[in-house]
Amino acid sequence: MNALTEAMDRAMGAQKAGRLDEAVALYGQVLAAQPNNLFASHNLGVVKLAQGRLAEAERLIARAAAAYPGHPELARSVRDLGLALFRAGFWESAGPWLERALGHDPRDAEVRSAAGRARPREYLSPEAFDAVSGRILHRAPPRESGSYFYAIDVVGTCNLKCPTCPVGNFTTANRPKGLMALETFERILDKIARESVAPKPEIWLFSWGEPLLHPDLPRMISMINAMGFESHLSSNLNIKKGLDAVMAARPTSFKVSISGLSPETYSRTHARGNIELVLGNMRELRRLLDANGNQTRVWVGHHVYKSNRHEVQAMADLCSELGFPHHPLPAFFQPLEKLVAIAEGLEPPPPIMEDLLEHPVNYLARFKSVRRRDLDCELRFNQTAINFDGSVSLCCSVYDAPNMLGVRFLDEPHEAIEARKYRHSFCGKCMSLGLHYAASDLYAFDKATGRAS
Ligand code: SF4
Ligand code: SF4
Repeated sequence: MNALTEAMDRAMGAQKAGRLDEAVALYGQVLAAQPNNLFASHNLGVVKLAQGRLAEAERLIARAAAAYPGHPELARSVRDLGLALFRAGFWESAGPWLERALGHDPRDAEVRSAAGRARPREYLSPEAFDAVSGRILHRAPPRESGSYFYAIDVVGTCNLKCPTCPVGNFTTANRPKGLMALETFERILDKIARESVAPKPEIWLFSWGEPLLHPDLPRMISMINAMGFESHLSSNLNIKKGLDAVMAARPTSFKVSISGLSPETYSRTHARGNIELVLGNMRELRRLLDANGNQTRVWVGHHVYKSNRHEVQAMADLCSELGFPHHPLPAFFQPLEKLVAIAEGLEPPPPIMEDLLEHPVNYLARFKSVRRRDLDCELRFNQTAINFDGSVSLCCSVYDAPNMLGVRFLDEPHEAIEARKYRHSFCGKCMSLGLHYAASDLYAFDKATGRAS
């Protein structure tokens, strides 16, 4: 056995045993001597995929896939690569791999679903002129929702005061508070139906408010459902009554937004909240679903901080017991105005930032270096955010009066409202800092982080 054959054997042994760094080194030795060894290139790509180095994995697997397009081993790698890129949010890179995987197996349900989401949406024009920068921006398939969505903040405030949310950290903002009138809501829905921006739009009944505080919420959900639209809720579940009526109206989805699992951790990050009340309501949600054959998708958005990360497994166990999908995600500081002020050195980071898994000063620097500036922000081309009084906001991530569009939703057609967004200077500032809602550059991201996430 010559030295290269031996190195290749040892590399495959290390790969099989999960000793990935060793496998990388050994495949590297082989490729240094035989740069065109596509077998080694492919295997190294698979190892890089397992390490989360997606850009390198793509480059290596692409070489082998180009040479052996029909090879069964490559069909599996192509599928794995496409799904890994998709799950990590690199949908533009994932798309061609997913389509190729579908060519191998058109019945693969997971790949079909991912490929469907990663395709361009017919109702969106593929690019837009950005008046602020004077550039044409491309519109990638939106991640946040399956169709165009309207974030209608039917309750313009919240019963809690979370320190990472503007309701808790931006009390000087010039923002009126109140409940949307049912008649206004009905007229808004009628206009959405008339304008028909997209088939089956999603109606989110929240933005910076707790929707379950609205006494007419069940009626609103029923109105949305009667129009054939999707109705989505997000709640902190700190409510003592009304859950049964809300669930009887059968919203399409219901997100339980939660952080800690004990009074100490929860009340720190969901300030003024009562975790015992929340847990009781989660069990009540389960009971209501079972009692009524309700198909509402209830899921748990779990905001993870340093102070509560030891509870992630316990939360996962609870969700499993209740049959609710559990989605842990690093807590994020909002609103955009505050993030921009911090990025520009105009405001010091507040103490809660020390509790975030990654300090925003770090991720602000990363966003600035990796976010793609050739892509438009999906929060302006695929969303309209409407406040409780019917006025329109630039997007659902801003909070203060200067970032409202100065128009009521009922008073202007969709195109005119969208044009206002494209003239707004705050988007230019947000995009220059890489804070817009768009994909990162895969290769820059890999380089900046040493991993994909
Ligand atoms: S529960 Fe939600 S809306 Fe209310 S303060 Fe907390 S993060 Fe903001
Ligand atoms: S660019 Fe920034 S401010 Fe403008 S819509 Fe997107 S997230 Fe909002």
